[in-house]
Amino acid sequence: MKKISLGIITLLLASPLLATQVIASDDCNTVRAKYQCSTQKHKLHLSFDDGVGSVTPKILDILKRENIKATFLVLGNKVDCKKHLAGTKSLQLCKQRFATLQRIKREGHDIGSHSYEHYHHSKLSPVELTKTIMDSRRILEPYFTTEPAIFRLPYGDGMFNQKEQPQVMEALKKAKFFHLGWEMTAYDWNEKYQHGDQILDNVLGQLCGNGKKGRNGVVLFHDGVFENEHEGRVFTANNLARWIPKMRCVADFKPLLFFKKNLKKK
Ligand SMILES: [Zn+2]
Repeated sequence: MKKISLGIITLLLASPLLATQVIASDDCNTVRAKYQCSTQKHKLHLSFDDGVGSVTPKILDILKRENIKATFLVLGNKVDCKKHLAGTKSLQLCKQRFATLQRIKREGHDIGSHSYEHYHHSKLSPVELTKTIMDSRRILEPYFTTEPAIFRLPYGDGMFNQKEQPQVMEALKKAKFFHLGWEMTAYDWNEKYQHGDQILDNVLGQLCGNGKKGRNGVVLFHDGVFENEHEGRVFTANNLARWIPKMRCVADFKPLLFFKKNLKKK
């Protein structure tokens, strides 16, 4: 008996992956019961908006450890380092963000545009609309990972209201972007949910349906804060490692192209 216990302990110490699975399986019945999940696993893809932020490397570390490929929708202005003056702190921070953008690409995640400025795109003049879209392409083009390149509108403005404001989606189409929406949202930008596991509750509530029909697809998180040049979504970065094993109880993580058959890897 003593020998077997020691064997298990050795195995756990030797294999961090196995340790994650063992911890997760202990919690999984509780997770399934809490969100009334079916026994069949859902399919999920993580996406992050408003970066690059100072917390993005922490998120990349977690994704690497968990062997998950995600999608980052980057704001062009966060990595446009030419606009900063030489020798300034803001240039130094921009260079750090730029290095993180390179790391996102190197580690095999998908990258798309979240425009250059975080504007309400339906409120822009035709000239301003084209400018912010094309400025993001100018900065991010070498880092796009798909053909066509993906774009996600800030606030979904121009997507939700495309019947009334068709010019936004038309401008994206003209600029040869594919608009990436989302099936679920974590509401992690909203401070009222930044306590305990309320953000996980938001995601798994939508995924499993809380007794109603659940969903599959892309979930919207944030790694950046668009108003703040450098900081990111600290709460998300600090808690993601704890949430992923619980998501894994009820969902398999899939790459973006699993859901978007019209996209090709660039
Ligand atoms: Zn945004």
